[in-house]
Order: sequence, then structure tokens, then C-alpha cells
Amino acid sequence: MEMPTPDAAILSRKSKIVERLRAALPQAAVIHDEAELRAYECDALTAYRCPPLAVVLPASTAEVATVLKICHAEGVPVVPRGSGTSLAGGALPTADSVILGVSRLNRVLEVDYDNRFIRVQSGRTNLSVTGAVEQDDFFYAPDPSSQLACAIAGNIAMNSGGAHCLKYGVTTNNLLGVTMVSMAGEVMEIGGAHLDAAGYDLLGVICGSEGQLGVVTEATLRILRKPEGARPVLIGFDSNEVAGACVSDIIKAGVLPVAIEFMDRPCIEATEAFAKAGYPMCEALLIVEVEGSPAEIDEQLGLITQIARRHNPVELREAQSEDEAKRIWLGRKSAFGAMGNINDYMCLDGTIPVSSLPYVLKRIGEMSKDYGLDVANVFHAGDGNMHPLILFDANKPGDLELCEAFGADILKLCVEVGGCLTGEHGVGIEKRDLMTTQFAPEDLEAQMRVKDVFDPSWLLNPAKVFPLAVSRARRERDIAA
Ligand SMILES: Cc1cc2nc3c(=O)[nH]c(=O)nc-3n(C[C@H](O)[C@H](O)[C@H](O)COP(=O)(O)OP(=O)(O)OC[C@H]3O[C@@H](n4cnc5c(N)ncnc54)[C@H](O)[C@@H]3O)c2cc1C
Repeated sequence: MEMPTPDAAILSRKSKIVERLRAALPQAAVIHDEAELRAYECDALTAYRCPPLAVVLPASTAEVATVLKICHAEGVPVVPRGSGTSLAGGALPTADSVILGVSRLNRVLEVDYDNRFIRVQSGRTNLSVTGAVEQDDFFYAPDPSSQLACAIAGNIAMNSGGAHCLKYGVTTNNLLGVTMVSMAGEVMEIGGAHLDAAGYDLLGVICGSEGQLGVVTEATLRILRKPEGARPVLIGFDSNEVAGACVSDIIKAGVLPVAIEFMDRPCIEATEAFAKAGYPMCEALLIVEVEGSPAEIDEQLGLITQIARRHNPVELREAQSEDEAKRIWLGRKSAFGAMGNINDYMCLDGTIPVSSLPYVLKRIGEMSKDYGLDVANVFHAGDGNMHPLILFDANKPGDLELCEAFGADILKLCVEVGGCLTGEHGVGIEKRDLMTTQFAPEDLEAQMRVKDVFDPSWLLNPAKVFPLAVSRARRERDIAA
């Protein structure tokens, strides 16, 4: 993966830049020691690493604005960082950039049950947003599997989803407003504690913009009343394709479960060894969850099991207690960790029309044989958001490159069947060079013009989202003009 050559002029001014940052923030909020910088050299896409020039950890919107003004004046790139769990390399620094981490911005600012919103600082973790309101029977719906660690800032930047987003939507459907600081240090309020804002839908532009347009410091989030009850059912099949066909039929029937999750045999085996969730050993497993009153749950599960029976399941097991339901979800939420426990892997994130699931799963199996690399599948099947995990050996020369080529072919297949390159993990560096597969030059140009407006000097989160060759050619064209 190509990264831009660091700006030698910036590197040579490191001590002056660090001095300016240290003069503006408390000492402990500026990290510049080589050994300590190592902790920030990558995110969860650990195959790519590069220590930054420095790290700053501001504790207020005003401090964020100060840092950005300094970096803007010095012409230093800035990489916003939440908890560093991005699987797309979104928070990967360049050697000449300053990482701006928001982990100290972690307070709850306001809870309003009457109007159903919570206002938090952006470094607060996803799970602790629900933690702040669950005693009053409310919750925040988007639930990435990384929710114990990932920050609301990263969720907004990547428009993150999770298992329960089939019913409740992803981050953009649950975000009401943000406070954001531009690269030049201007503080902007976008959206608010109301349903819709006058003027352009800038909130829609910010959500999913991958730290390219500004640094989000506060967020107003929709909170919902907890449902009366919920119950998952485990459905086992003897092939991936049949499980995929069952998902397609459930969606076609118009039933709306809160979640339909898919795991194949390699994932079931790894998860069972790791989390002891009581999963049946079969080729493919669906976890389908419905919620509502006991009567609503019975009715929906009745329909779902009726559809599943047409596909000859090898196992059909409804959770009999809250404890069992928790264990089922613990298994699913541990799946990535369980796979990481036994192998290096690259986690992909393409989205496809649900009706293409059987075909795409079959093709992935065939490609896996062609490339000689194993694949494990665990994903949000209800909305067609696939996460093939390609297993490789990071210590074997050539394996990473082979894995990248295989991953690119899977994502191209997603686009070919009418889907897209990312469902929830974002583009980052991982899918940057594939953007031309999905978008025509005019489409990419329109997106880059939005970046021009918010960050004219292109200093925020460099080398992400747009293919390097495309953004470089554009810059050369502008200079020539
Ligand atoms: C085990 C595991 C499971 C996962 N499961 C899911 C899942 O189910 N669903 C899902 O959607 N994702 C999942 N992810 C991916 C990841 O957790 C999400 O992308 C998450 O939203 C990243 O949040 P973060 O705080 O760690 O952000 P980071 O990794 O720190 O950054 C992510 C992006 O956000 C930008 N950013 C960070 N802070 C700001 C800010 N203040 N202002 C502007 N931009 C900012 C960064 O520049 C970067 O581009 C998973 C990751 C792991 C490791």
C-alpha cells in the first residue's frame, strides 16, 4: 500500500512544532517521545504502521481549536483519532502528521428523556452512551461489535453500524447534531437536538466523512426506549449458500427482525473455543433476533421458523432465558477477537443486495481455493453487509500482498452484483485505490470539491478515501493552472 512521501520540511521543524503545541496545552497532553509514539502507529488494520510526528490529547473544544490553528499555520497534516479501532486504516498516521486524539473528551453533557436525546463529548465510548441512560430504560441503538472500545467520534466518521442496525439504522439515522472544528480552527454547530435542520443537510455530509472535513468534539444522539423484550433464535444449516437463501427469504417475506447475523464453520469453531456460547457445530449459522411484547415475539419467531424450515435446517433453537440470549450475543460479539486469537486476518466490509448472498458466498468459496487462502465469514446478513475475514500469515513473505489482491477481488464482486465497497468500516487506506471501481471520475471530483470547501489545504487525514494517483493528478493540474 503506497503512502505519500513525508514532507522533509515538516520533519525538520518537528521540535518547533512540538514546542508550539506544548506551549498551548498541558504538558501531559503532548506526546513526542519516539517510544510513546509507537502506541499510535496503527489502528486495528495492523498490517500498516507508521509512527506520527506527535500526538496531542486535548480535553475541550477550545483546546482542539487551538491545536488545529497551530497545525494549520505550520502546514502540518492532522489525523483525528477516537479509539483507534478502525479496520480500514482510517486513523493510520503519516510520518509528518500530528495525531489529534479525542479520548479525553469523554463526558456526558446533557440527557433529555422528554425529547429523547443525549449530548456527549465525542471521545465517549459507544457502549458507555447506553450505560449513561440504561438505568432509565433507554438505549443508544448503533452497536458495533467494538462498542466497548470505539468512540462516538469514530462511529460518526465511519457511519458505523452493528448487529441491531437492520431495524434501527446506522449512525447517520441516530445522529442529530455535532460540534465540529475546521482545520482552520473555526468551531461550527451542525444540526441540533431537533429532527431536521434548515439549510443544506451538512450533518449528512459530515457523518461518514472519515475525519476529512473537520474534528468532531461533541455529538447529540437519539436515544430510544428499551423494547419490552427480545429473543434470538439460532438456525444451523449444512451450507453457506442455503443459509444465505434463508436470509433472502426472511427479508422478502417482509418480517423485520432487529438482527440477522451469519457465521460460517471456521467462525463457529473459533468462537466456540473462545467464548463457549453453546453454538451447534454446522456449516453455517444464523442468529435472528426479534423484539416486542411476548405475543409479538412469538408471532414473528413463528413466521421466521416457518421460513427457515423450508430450507431444512440442521438446528433450530430459540433462547429459553435471558442468560442464554446473552451467551448467544457474547459469542457473536467475540467472533472477530476469536479469529484473531488463532490467525492473522484481514476483515473486509462490502455490502451487497441480500438476494445475491448465495451467489456471492459461493464465489468467495471458489476464489478462496484459487488464491490458496482460507476465508471465514461473519457478518450482518439482514442488510447484506458482508465481512469476509481472509486468513493469512503476516510473517510469510508475499502473503499480505496475496491477501490484498484477494480482498480487492471480493470487493469488486460486491460492486459487480450491485452493492458497494463498504457497509460500515469506511474506505480509509484499505479501499482507497478501489474507489475508481465504484465511482466515475465526475463522482469522485464532486466528493473532492466538498473536501476543498471544508479543508482547502487538504491537511486533514491525508492519504485516505481518494486514490493517491487521482488526488495527486488533481493537485498538479491546479498548480499548473
Ligand atoms: C473487533 C472489531 C469489531 C468491529 N466491529 C464493527 C462493527 O460491528 N460495526 C462497525 O461499523 N465497525 C466495527 N469495527 C470498526 C471500528 O470499530 C469502527 O469503525 C469505529 O467506529 C471506529 O471508532 P474509533 O473511535 O476506534 O475510531 P478510530 O479508529 O480512531 O478512527 C476512525 C476514523 O474516524 C476518524 N475520527 C476519529 N475521531 C474523529 C473526530 N473526533 N472527528 C473526525 N473524525 C474522527 C479517524 O480519522 C478515522 O478516519 C470493528 C472493529 C474491531 C477492531
